[in-house]
Amino acid sequence: MALLQISEPGESPAPHERKLAVGIDLGTTNSLVATVRSSVPEVLLDEAGRALLPSAVRYSADGEPVVGHDALAAQAEDPSNTIVSVKRFMGRTAEEARASAAAYDFVDAPGMVRLRTAQGDLSPVEVSSHILARLRSRAEAALGDELVGAVITVPAYFDDAQRQATRDAARLAGLNVLRLLNEPTAAAIAYGLENAAEGVYAVYDLGGGTFDVSILRLTKGVFEVVATGGDTALGGDDFDALIARHIAGAIAGSDAWSRHDRRALLVAARAARERLSDADETTVGFQLQDGTLVDAPLTREQFEAMAAPLVARTLDAARRALRDANLTPAEVRGVVMVGGATRMPLVRRAVGELFGTTPLTDLDPDQVVALGAALQANLLAGNRSPGEDWLLLDVIPLSLGLETMGGLVERIIPRNSTIPVARAQEFTTFKDGQGAMSIHVVQGERELVSACRSLARFELRGIPPMVAGAARIRVTFQVDADGLLGVTAREQSTGVEASVTVKPSYGLSDDEITRMLADSIDQADADARARMLREQQVEARQLVDSVRAALAADGDLLDTQERARVDQALVDAEAAAHSEDVDAVRAAVHALSEATEAFAARRMDRSIRQALSGRKLDELT
Ligand code: ADP
Ligand code: MG
Repeated sequence: MALLQISEPGESPAPHERKLAVGIDLGTTNSLVATVRSSVPEVLLDEAGRALLPSAVRYSADGEPVVGHDALAAQAEDPSNTIVSVKRFMGRTAEEARASAAAYDFVDAPGMVRLRTAQGDLSPVEVSSHILARLRSRAEAALGDELVGAVITVPAYFDDAQRQATRDAARLAGLNVLRLLNEPTAAAIAYGLENAAEGVYAVYDLGGGTFDVSILRLTKGVFEVVATGGDTALGGDDFDALIARHIAGAIAGSDAWSRHDRRALLVAARAARERLSDADETTVGFQLQDGTLVDAPLTREQFEAMAAPLVARTLDAARRALRDANLTPAEVRGVVMVGGATRMPLVRRAVGELFGTTPLTDLDPDQVVALGAALQANLLAGNRSPGEDWLLLDVIPLSLGLETMGGLVERIIPRNSTIPVARAQEFTTFKDGQGAMSIHVVQGERELVSACRSLARFELRGIPPMVAGAARIRVTFQVDADGLLGVTAREQSTGVEASVTVKPSYGLSDDEITRMLADSIDQADADARARMLREQQVEARQLVDSVRAALAADGDLLDTQERARVDQALVDAEAAAHSEDVDAVRAAVHALSEATEAFAARRMDRSIRQALSGRKLDELT
């Protein structure tokens, strides 16, 4: 399904008619804003001529928050009031945030974590909005007018909660969000892949805090993301942490270092790692709070030995994405490198080896995402130039479905479906006269609800009384262009309807996504067995219910002996419905059907007689 409905390419509007739209890369480490001028995307610079705005905000008891370089410079001296990598906490609970081992005062709050600062408890949405507001004023200063809107990028792996949080942050910053765009997709746009020959491309994005890999397929100017994978908790920061552990490990008393000292070490570790992208050796130099100077040597060889397992993890994720797309590395024509951490020679080598091709590094890996977002924003604002008539397709990372009887998942939208997407399926009632149906929306790859993630629950009420199985309830899942899910349930005969927009209270952690995918593969056999068992159990319960109803209506058709046999079979089937032995359940269902065969035939006769009684023969022909 097309994401953008593109009409005939027209003339470029005159400059004064152009609507000012920007693309924003709201990064974990660095954020950027870009726009399209004279058909060329360019990053907008700050007063000092810098493109990158460090995603750091420092809060003090009074005064405006300090955003960017100045905040970053203060991080060692005022760590708990200087928030960095806030993107990791977007849409997350305090529990999840604490698991990230970041050194902040996390405050439990309904829905999303809050961070304790000198300016009070702030949500990650507020902190992000301060970064976005800074980029907005940078853009308005550079362009000399108000913006009509912005395209904001998010990692492909961001779930609904994280996307919603990003939208909220933009709104708080006074930005009109034209669209959220997956970062790897934006990078592909920046590289102009839509003009390239047809084929499959991979986008490998290793930033400060997240890793994304996407597989894109190009056909006739249309490109589609056919698979995504990655790790929302793996980036340059983790490489810094390895160096820090290595350095601290060699210094006596480092266990007792203050927050300040640990931050100072991390800052020095990052600088050293960046230098090692060009140099063979360097030193990790910083000052402890007590005045001690540390100056530890580090070679690229040492660093690469430490870093290899992290790089291997990114390659595993890349292989998984390829498998999802049913592709081999050799079928990938080119690999786009995105994110500052792809400057590490080890990463470039490893990626080149996996795909058997030299990765594309022509565009500044820090800027590609913002440049692509600017092109997209320009298009959405209506400033299209001739030839810019491409379509764009994204996918959902994990399957979406519903809970059905027996705790089973009915998958409605499979993982890696391109969005926007709408799928509908009909369900029916389980019991006679059932007046309400509860809808439980889940996400994940497993057959059992208990192994998936619960996204939302709602009830459809006012279903007219009908026998079990007669009601027709159409459930529609709709994922919009931003990856947000809306679910609607509608009873077809009366038109009663209920719906929910999924805005889950917290997000999936990266580990959860990885675990859910790995489990779905490991557990496929067990799941299939469990599904069979649950289905048999549901069948047993349904049969028990209907035999009970039949006995109540027409019990007089049975003599005492027959009745005793049916009652016994009922008791057995009821007990079997709770058994974990699929064969036992099946046998009990079979026995109950057999025991009630004659009874069912007699009921049929009776109902036919009733239907015919009092009618003349000619009315029936
Ligand atoms: P994000 O998308 O998370 O905001 P960026 O794409 O800006 O991240 O990448 C930031 C990361 O890139 C940091 O971990 C930084 O250390 C790393 N980086 C920047 N320059 C270099 C370099 N020359 N060598 C190695 N890593 C680098
Ligand atoms: Mg990035």
